[in-house]
Amino acid sequence: MNQRIPITLVFTLFLALTANCASQADANFQLPGQALAPGVFQLRELDLHLHSGMERPVDLQSWIDLAVADGRKVILLLDHLELYRKTPEQYATWREKGKFQAQYPVGPEGHKALYADFDSVASRKDVLIFKGWEVSEDELDTGLEMAPLRMADAIGFHISPRNGSTPPNGQTLLKRVRQIKELQKQLPIPMILFHPFPMRIENLQRTAKAKGRDPAKIAVKEYRFFRPGEQQDLILLLKGSSIYIEMNRDTEHYFDDPVCREAFIADILPLAKAGVQFTVSTDNHHLAAAKKPFTPTHYCGPTGVTPACCNTIVRELMALRARRLLTENAARPQVER
Ligand SMILES: [Zn+2]
Ligand SMILES: [Zn+2]
Repeated sequence: MNQRIPITLVFTLFLALTANCASQADANFQLPGQALAPGVFQLRELDLHLHSGMERPVDLQSWIDLAVADGRKVILLLDHLELYRKTPEQYATWREKGKFQAQYPVGPEGHKALYADFDSVASRKDVLIFKGWEVSEDELDTGLEMAPLRMADAIGFHISPRNGSTPPNGQTLLKRVRQIKELQKQLPIPMILFHPFPMRIENLQRTAKAKGRDPAKIAVKEYRFFRPGEQQDLILLLKGSSIYIEMNRDTEHYFDDPVCREAFIADILPLAKAGVQFTVSTDNHHLAAAKKPFTPTHYCGPTGVTPACCNTIVRELMALRARRLLTENAARPQVER
C-alpha cells in the first residue's frame, strides 16, 4: 500500500481533532485554567531571555530594576554559555572592549559565580527570577556541555541567522525539535527555540544588500520560513512537549514592513492557532534597549501569540520549582520542618 495514505489519514484526523480548538482560538478561546485575568501574566510582564551575565552593562540589581520599572514580573536571566570558554586573556581583552560592568571567571568557576549572583537576586519580592543559558544550536550537533545546563531552570537554543550561508527554515526547526526532545530525556526542563523567524529575515536582507540587490524586492514567498507541510509536521512534534518558540524583540525591526509582516503572519498564526506554545523576550544586552518600553503585543497580536500561549512555560517553571522545594523539605530532618 502507498505509505502516504496512512500519514495523510493520521494528519486529517489530527486536523479534525484540532479544528475545534483552532476555531475556538479564533473566538478568543482560553486554555483551561487561564480564564482569570490575574492568573495570566500579560506579554509585557514576561521576559524569558534577558542577558544578565558577562555582557551586563550595570550591576545585576540595577539591571533587573530597569526591567521591573518597565513592568516585568517574570524573568529568565541567562548568558551565552560559549562566553565562558574564552581563555582568561581573551576574556580580559573582550571585556575591556565591550566596557562591561560584569566580571566573572571563565570556565566552571564562572558558571558557579554567575548562578550565585542569579540566586542572590531570586529573593526579590517584585519579580519572579529563573535561571537559564543561551546555547548555540550547533552544540546540539557537536555535543553539549551538560554540567552548566544541569544548573538551569530552562535553556534556550540560539537559532543562528547563518549570515553568508543558508538561512534558518522549517527543516532547521524540525531537526532542532527532534534533537531537543532527545536531550529532554536526560534533562527534563523547559527548552526554547530562540528567535527563529527574525533570523531568517536578517539573513535574507543582509545577503540581498551584499549582492547589490534591493531588499525591498524580496517577496513574501522568499521570506516564508516554512514550506508546505512543515508547519503541520512541527505542530505534531511540538504537541504536548515542553518546547517553546520564542518571539523576541528583533521581530519589531521587521514587523512594520508589510511584506515581512505577511510572511510572519503566514508562518506563525497557524502554529498559534494549533496550540503551539511560545515565549516572549527582550533579548536585551544593552542599556539603550533596556530603557525602551517593551511592546510585544505589537507583533504578537496579529500573529496569534496570546498571553495564554506564553503562560504555559511560567506555569511549568513554577511547578518544577514547587516540586524541588517539596523534595528539599522532605529531605530535611523532621524537627526542622
Ligand atoms: Zn540568540
Ligand atoms: Zn540572546
